[in-house]
Amino acid sequence: MKPLAGWLLATLMTGAAAQDYSATRARMTDEIAAMARATAGETGRTSFAARVMGALGKVERHRFVAVGDEAAAYRNRPLGIGNGQTISQPYIVALMTDLLDLTGSEKVLEVGTGSGYQAAVLAELAATVYSIEIVAPLGRLAAQRLAAAGYRNVITRIGDGYQGWPEAAPFDAIMVTAAARTVPPALIAQLKPGGKLVIPVGEQGSHQNLLVIAKTADGGTQSRRVLAVRFVPLTGGPDGREKAP
Ligand code: SAH
Repeated sequence: MKPLAGWLLATLMTGAAAQDYSATRARMTDEIAAMARATAGETGRTSFAARVMGALGKVERHRFVAVGDEAAAYRNRPLGIGNGQTISQPYIVALMTDLLDLTGSEKVLEVGTGSGYQAAVLAELAATVYSIEIVAPLGRLAAQRLAAAGYRNVITRIGDGYQGWPEAAPFDAIMVTAAARTVPPALIAQLKPGGKLVIPVGEQGSHQNLLVIAKTADGGTQSRRVLAVRFVPLTGGPDGREKAP
């Protein structure tokens, strides 16, 4: 490459990377905090942990959306990410993350890498994140974005998360970001006693319930309904539609 072209390219790339979204991101976290207060009656949480809000204020969400959608990345709305999938509304990302009560030492599994954004948020708050995506092009793109953003504690894989990630189990926490019709038994099996699973459960197209399932010391489970939500369906599973056997 000629020096001038190289200079031009470097300048253009720096320009793109230097675009500053910190003010828009701060507005997004303000909206999340307001929505947390407004939904406290249902969720039982008037605010989210400072660590969680810090991660939402730090992760560059615009790096995880389609080219051209950067400015829309910080709206408190779901956003299409291609292949018929959506990245959750930032408030839902914050709520689901907060429900895991991470302290920094955990090994976390995320089912449904999608854009990679939620994995980046988890990577800010836990020791290691394993994230699995069933749609190969999405999983590959997310892995590239996570690497470009410098996340070295996220391990990605293409596969069916209904089966969990047996080689890396057990996990301190598991988050599913697609709606399951029934709770996948493998995920309960791969959760450590004392660990938590956050998962939307319900039929496609209708309202689903966001559940927090805690695994007790004796291996039993306690489930709590948190909020009505709407997610894309979890696919995979024994018959391809994640139906219980
Ligand atoms: N957490 C994502 C949003 C996920 S949207 C983000 O932050 O962007 C839900 C994702 O779950 C989709 O990408 C979908 O392809 C994926 N998915 C659905 N069923 C799955 C399964 N059985 N295993 C792994 N991923 C699955």
